[in-house]
Amino acid sequence: MTNLQWPIRIARPAIAEFSAYAARGGATVALHLDANEAPWAPPPVLGADGYNRYPAQQPKALLARLADLYGVAEQRLMLGRGADEAIEVLLRTFCEAGQDSVLICPPTFGYYETCARIQGAGIIEAPLNDDFSYNGERIMAAVRAGQEGLKIVFLCSPNNPSGNSIDLKIVVELCQEFPEILIVVDEAYNEFSDQPSFIDLQDEYQNLVVLRTLSKAYALAGVRAGVAIADPRVIALMLKVLPPYPIPRPVEDAVTSALSPSAMMVHEARLTLWKSERVRVAKALKGSRFVTKIYPSDANFLLLDITDEQALMKGLRKSQIRIRRYGKTLPGKIRISIGSPEENDIALAAFGVAIASQTPDRTGEVHRKTKETDIAVRVNLDDPSITKIATGIGFYDHMLEALAKHGGFGLVLSCKGDLHIDGHHTIEDCALALGAALKQALGNKQGIGRFGAAMLIPMDEAQAQVAIDLSGRPAMGFVGEFPTERVGDFASEMCPHVFESLAQTLGAAIQINVTGGGPRTGAGF
Ligand SMILES: *Cc1c(COP(=O)(O)O)cnc(C)c1O
Repeated sequence: MTNLQWPIRIARPAIAEFSAYAARGGATVALHLDANEAPWAPPPVLGADGYNRYPAQQPKALLARLADLYGVAEQRLMLGRGADEAIEVLLRTFCEAGQDSVLICPPTFGYYETCARIQGAGIIEAPLNDDFSYNGERIMAAVRAGQEGLKIVFLCSPNNPSGNSIDLKIVVELCQEFPEILIVVDEAYNEFSDQPSFIDLQDEYQNLVVLRTLSKAYALAGVRAGVAIADPRVIALMLKVLPPYPIPRPVEDAVTSALSPSAMMVHEARLTLWKSERVRVAKALKGSRFVTKIYPSDANFLLLDITDEQALMKGLRKSQIRIRRYGKTLPGKIRISIGSPEENDIALAAFGVAIASQTPDRTGEVHRKTKETDIAVRVNLDDPSITKIATGIGFYDHMLEALAKHGGFGLVLSCKGDLHIDGHHTIEDCALALGAALKQALGNKQGIGRFGAAMLIPMDEAQAQVAIDLSGRPAMGFVGEFPTERVGDFASEMCPHVFESLAQTLGAAIQINVTGGGPRTGAGF
């Protein structure tokens, strides 16, 4: 055994010995008569690209995207049906039934234990401290005592359900002291935390494995996708155990578009909101008579000590709110996820917290994808704090930024367009998407003035007059001339088109009148 190379010598002998099942997937331009597939797409044929062909075990384009997302080489990734599958595959690759074991630090994510039990592996526990911090000495002692046959240490950071992160020193010490054992850090909630990921430490420690999921921060729980990130030799062994076709094509499509460059800015804006909601909810819950303690959290949930549990549960049930309870394992505690601001307000009310009655933010989110452009827009009419624009056209970014700033609304807009041809599609499509997002945010337009008229805006060398009617009927008039054909990479002739497109999807009449437009003589200052 010992003359085998690591990590083969810590894998189950059967896994080390057999040769992997030859998955046939991944259609190419070749004539595929090798996998008994149907030659036709399933009906209805449109839009079912490649559904009749087996996918690759690790779809290449998606793997490349995830490698980029996590900043690692593709050989360091195993993509599976959620981080859950990575946990299962780790157990099945390394733990011999009735012989090997794993270490967990309860209270923690339950699936480590579930998988260990299914696999017939032993479970060694090194419980967290009373305040739920990780107890480094306790873990070290337990690993030393159980070293024979101990294959995997599962650490969860931020920990589910307590929300706290592990001290870097503990992970480093474990990796150094026990190079034969896999030290797995489950980072399902890393995106919500300000702690750096442990991925970067993998350059130094070959036994460090990191788990990430697209279920939480990237809103893909129903799609099932997550990764193990590890030494390529560990990954190679795991790929022998992973089923041949774990990533259905619709999953690949869904993940790819949810991680498109433009969608990333929406995720970023949402994360900012999510974290600020975590702070707001925690603060508000201090005023609840049901809550005696709120544990600090680096994740998108809060663990609470509660009192008068029956009355609280009754109230939550009445409002149809589900929270997580733990029965005898964690009596008197509940875990509550951070939802949207509106959802959180409903939950706070059930906790008996008087929150200033606030109307929910008027937001609109539009994703628009065509052959020419891929656009994500998020507007928040009631919170101007987040504005981030990247269209690829500098002057256009500046224009839209000015629009958000002077309009007093938050705007996240990103676009990947066919700029190698020219800016036309990008400019028009962004305006179309922005108009649609604004319309969505305005909703039924309750409480706002329909007309915004007679604004006179002076600039250095010109003045503009704009009138808007949110009538629902698109119309646009533009009077004005441009002294130059281009402003940077923005073609001046596109300016009327911007407002035309905006008017179209916003459902507004927009009239613009610009005079001046050249250096005026005698202006005098
Ligand atoms: C949610 C969760 C997972 C599972 O993630 P999937 O990718 O949806 O399987 C893994 N680990 C922890 C700690 C979680 O809370």
